[in-house]
Amino acid sequence: MNTSPTSAAFEKASGAASPGKKCIYRAIVIGAGASGLFFASSTDLSSPDPSTGAAGGLILEHTAKPGSKLLISGGGRCNFTHAGSVKDFPAHYNNGTFVRSALYKHSNIKFTEFMEDLGIRSVTEKDGRIFPECRRSAPVLDALLKRSAANGFTIRTGTDVTAIRPPEGPGRPWGICVARNGNGYPGNDGCGAADEIFFCENLIIATGGITYPATGSDGSLIPVLQRDLGIRFTELVPSLMPLTIAGDPYRSLAGVSVENAAMTIEEKSGRKIHQASGPILFTEKGISGPAALNASAHLRPDAVISLSLIPGISRDQVMRSLQEELKGRPQDINTTSAAAARLFGLPKSLTRILAERSCGAGSSPSLKSMAGLLTADRLPLDQETLSFSGKSSPAGMCTRGGIALDQINTKTMELRNAPGLFAVGEVLDVDGETGGYNLQFAFSSAQAASECVNGKLHG
Ligand SMILES: Cc1cc2nc3c(=O)[nH]c(=O)nc-3n(C[C@H](O)[C@H](O)[C@H](O)COP(=O)(O)OP(=O)(O)OC[C@H]3O[C@@H](n4cnc5c(N)ncnc54)[C@H](O)[C@@H]3O)c2cc1C
Repeated sequence: MNTSPTSAAFEKASGAASPGKKCIYRAIVIGAGASGLFFASSTDLSSPDPSTGAAGGLILEHTAKPGSKLLISGGGRCNFTHAGSVKDFPAHYNNGTFVRSALYKHSNIKFTEFMEDLGIRSVTEKDGRIFPECRRSAPVLDALLKRSAANGFTIRTGTDVTAIRPPEGPGRPWGICVARNGNGYPGNDGCGAADEIFFCENLIIATGGITYPATGSDGSLIPVLQRDLGIRFTELVPSLMPLTIAGDPYRSLAGVSVENAAMTIEEKSGRKIHQASGPILFTEKGISGPAALNASAHLRPDAVISLSLIPGISRDQVMRSLQEELKGRPQDINTTSAAAARLFGLPKSLTRILAERSCGAGSSPSLKSMAGLLTADRLPLDQETLSFSGKSSPAGMCTRGGIALDQINTKTMELRNAPGLFAVGEVLDVDGETGGYNLQFAFSSAQAASECVNGKLHG
């Protein structure tokens, strides 16, 4: 007798299921997040399959509510994509070569048209980020839920997937074993038992990454995918997170921002790993803002950061400018910080901290040291930022790592050795920079899968 966890789950569910009731769906989506809902709102399953009788779609979600991460995206304003040529997009992703095909076909323009079709007009901000005109995520989620329902999808919340069985032969369905976890409301799909098996012609994995686990993206499906389907994952680490600095000298500046700074991630030896530039925001624990978030995607366990508050200007140039500006005047903390603020357009509260730090043991600032801090302030990262693990992380707007991409067809997001099985969104080993690139990939990958499923269903 086969006593594997998968068989045991299926046997238990078979015993509990209502006799004679077998639900076969045209597609089941696991995960009611952005990518799962993009898939459901693009795939019309409202009519049954004439040959198998399979009908409609089902979305299985283990939390009580769909779209929780979408709701908090962009600070609740939902920065869903970015302006500009889609040809420039791949450079904004880790694994940019993989995303090219889906992005070119289902581009930022297609995305804004898709939103418009859902009744969501968009607006582009000066820095290129695109938002809904209403600057709220909630109407986006509502529109996706409505369109998914019109396409024949039902959502079952509070449902854990405990096992997955691949088709037992050509034309046979996938088997999905589920258990209620107490988070949801009773489904309205006619299958009401505690442990159940659902069947489907197409299965879409849309379970996201491992960050902000309170939204439901907690990596809980990964062991099931590894055990039952042999799917391989790369290492998972949080990305796009604020940088926490050990002994942060800028702590008193929490809330102050700088329009354009450069953050270089370096090894302790000084070797450069990555540089990101853009706005930064000082926080109570360190540095946030787009440049810091994008830099966080490239951290290593032994990394330090080097912060330049005036990118593109050398230390010598800065020192000469300061000397010139202070010529014939006393060189104390007040005059030096005021000169630096004036010359480089920086907040006085910031240049004052730099001037104080430039004093060393003396009472007046050293201009050489001041120029060094303005152009390359080497800051040690806190262990909190550097302690990577494969566990869920409360920080990080996205996850680096996921389903290893050599298993995926780049055009359709179908697993190469498992026809009818698709993976979309952040569960894949793709992560983008901040600025709308992650929701764009959730959309593009979901569209690629939807197009393939639609093609199979409607010929
Ligand atoms: C604070 C924050 C702000 C962000 N802002 C932006 C932004 O402005 N622009 C941008 O492009 N990106 C942004 N992102 C990233 C973006 O939200 C994600 O990349 C995107 O939501 C990923 O979509 P997804 O569908 O792949 O995963 P998710 O949206 O995370 O959805 C996954 C769903 O699967 C469910 N699930 C997980 N495991 C299971 C399971 N075992 N069984 C059933 N269901 C399961 C989860 O509960 C969840 O509902 C932000 C992220 C955060 C955290």
